[in-house]
Amino acid sequence: MKDNYGREINYMRVSITDRCDLRCIYCMPKGCEKVSMSQILTYEEIERICRVAAGLGISRIKITGGEPFVRLGCTDLIRSIKAVEGIEEVTVTTNGQILDRYIDELKDIGIDGVNISLDSLDPDNYTYITGGGDLAKTLNSIELSAKSGIKTKVNCILQKGSNENELFDLAGLAFRYGIDVRFIEEMPVGEGKLKAGISNNDVLKRLKERWPDLEADESVHGNGPAVYYKRSGIPGAIGLISPIHGVFCADCNRIRLTSQGKIRPCLCYDTEIDIVPALAGSDEDIAETLRRAVLAKPESHCFNDAGFEDDMREEKRLMSQIGG
Ligand code: SAM
Ligand code: SF4
Repeated sequence: MKDNYGREINYMRVSITDRCDLRCIYCMPKGCEKVSMSQILTYEEIERICRVAAGLGISRIKITGGEPFVRLGCTDLIRSIKAVEGIEEVTVTTNGQILDRYIDELKDIGIDGVNISLDSLDPDNYTYITGGGDLAKTLNSIELSAKSGIKTKVNCILQKGSNENELFDLAGLAFRYGIDVRFIEEMPVGEGKLKAGISNNDVLKRLKERWPDLEADESVHGNGPAVYYKRSGIPGAIGLISPIHGVFCADCNRIRLTSQGKIRPCLCYDTEIDIVPALAGSDEDIAETLRRAVLAKPESHCFNDAGFEDDMREEKRLMSQIGG
């Protein structure tokens, strides 16, 4: 499915819940709006949307939230989406707090990857940043996931005066576990607007000082905009995702489906297309709504525009309600 700018849209991020067991400072420090089960899409509806989307060329699905594993039956949904014809890859993004319980099942399902958010290796700082999380649980999940052979990625957001001094420790996890550790520039979405993030240009400079043998890794690691670096002969890689300082919109390949059935063409704008009415109709009604959402994609984000903070175009939802 091509958008108005000729970009092939083949990736859909699907948020299955707004709920989360944490209250990360980026996402939802004040707690998120309570949404009843009747307001969110059922698993059958999500699977149906994925099936229709697959018919339009969406071949990769990311299950996200809120925290996907707090919704009962999350692994059943993953299993059913894996079985949809045309879907080549299903991955999940999680805070890792209860992921350990599901590793064996995810392995059995043949999950194509698990992304785990981790912003600090200091237990107290981790608890502070996540609003109550237990570092040991997430570390255990990372270790189990890496050992199981599931493609495991750690996602970190660095903030000035918070965890920037942990850059090397966090990056070092890549080489300790032979996994990908990615640094994502904080986007001015939700509470991300209030704190100073760090440019990945600075991150790369510091990483190269620490590991002079770091070199660009051209191999394909996923379907996103990360640029990877590795050390010669050492498993593991460091990825940089730079939405702010390295605008990658020209290669954008995605749409987002919220738990309440709204399709978000772009993270930066509050435009959303409601797919719920189409669920009462035929698969063609769903397909038509998906096409409309793809054609509503903007050419690029406006995070760097002067006056963005006051601009009415910016999105009003928290990251936890969009799914990252
Ligand atoms: N609960 C899951 C988790 O923590 O991974 C999935 C949802 S969470 C919203 C998805 C990702 O969005 C997390 O990696 C989080 O760090 C990231 N995120 C949240 N706020 C962000 C922001 N302002 N800029 C960039 N990434 C953000
Ligand atoms: Fe695509 Fe919007 Fe993200 Fe840019 S900000 S990469 S257009 S979804």
